[in-house]
Amino acid sequence: MTAIKVHGGIDILRLPVNQEEHIYHPWHVKYTQSHILHSKCSKSENGCGDKDIDSCQFCIFSRTLDLPHMPDMVFPNNILTLKHQNGATIQFNALDSLKTVSNGKINVQLACAEAWKESRSESSEYLEEKVKPFDWTFTTNYMGTISNFEIQETTERIDVDKLKRREKILFYHDLTLFEDELHDNGIAVCSVKIRVMPSSFYILLRYFLRIDGVMFRINDTRIYHEFGQDYLLREFTSREAKVEEIRASPLCIEPSEIAPYLPLTKCQYHKLIISSKTESLTNNQTVNEVTI
Ligand SMILES: [Zn+2]
Repeated sequence: MTAIKVHGGIDILRLPVNQEEHIYHPWHVKYTQSHILHSKCSKSENGCGDKDIDSCQFCIFSRTLDLPHMPDMVFPNNILTLKHQNGATIQFNALDSLKTVSNGKINVQLACAEAWKESRSESSEYLEEKVKPFDWTFTTNYMGTISNFEIQETTERIDVDKLKRREKILFYHDLTLFEDELHDNGIAVCSVKIRVMPSSFYILLRYFLRIDGVMFRINDTRIYHEFGQDYLLREFTSREAKVEEIRASPLCIEPSEIAPYLPLTKCQYHKLIISSKTESLTNNQTVNEVTI
């Protein structure tokens, strides 16, 4: 196995991007990690033009997402990419994770409106729709950005017992894609973790929402692959509950502690089958463009 480490190798706006790459044949695993998205255009007073192929990240995000406002912290360079030698690619990035945030009215407003109005006057501008309605919880059902996989529904499940077995961890990393503190009334955070072991790799992409005193929501995407097999298993689950409905200790605010108390509201199970043919470079380049 080959490991290439580059720290501070790339300079974007004079701030370094950390990156690390590993080869676990036939997979190439890479992450990049850097500063948060700027709050305005970094190139010109009037913003980058629509057709400017060299637009700054702020303008790319603003134009692509069209949200009335972005989460407090967005990490445009926090990107995890896994690429199979045949061309199948799976990637996790902030821009794509925010694309699924609803840009219209949301139900959580109805469920939580009273609780919010009572104690959180500074947030009422959202509820009263003084700003264009959008999902200010930034709820996303992002499952990663994939290309060159065939997707099939499956009854096969990730073998949790196997994952619990003690096995050497060859590589571990944790990246935050975005985070918002909901005007100090909770948290919405989307992050991805990867663990590579001699026999397999495991990824957990998690969106976690806590509106203090009101509700919790967790959208998890788990991806598991056993080296040597021609597919990955992908499990998506959505869990949520109002605070008054759950029996967890009020001190229990860590996502992993609260998750078992939240009823499952949605689940999807897929097999991502790696195509046996080597894909052309053109397809791979399409993926790279998304990474900015
Ligand atoms: Zn710009």
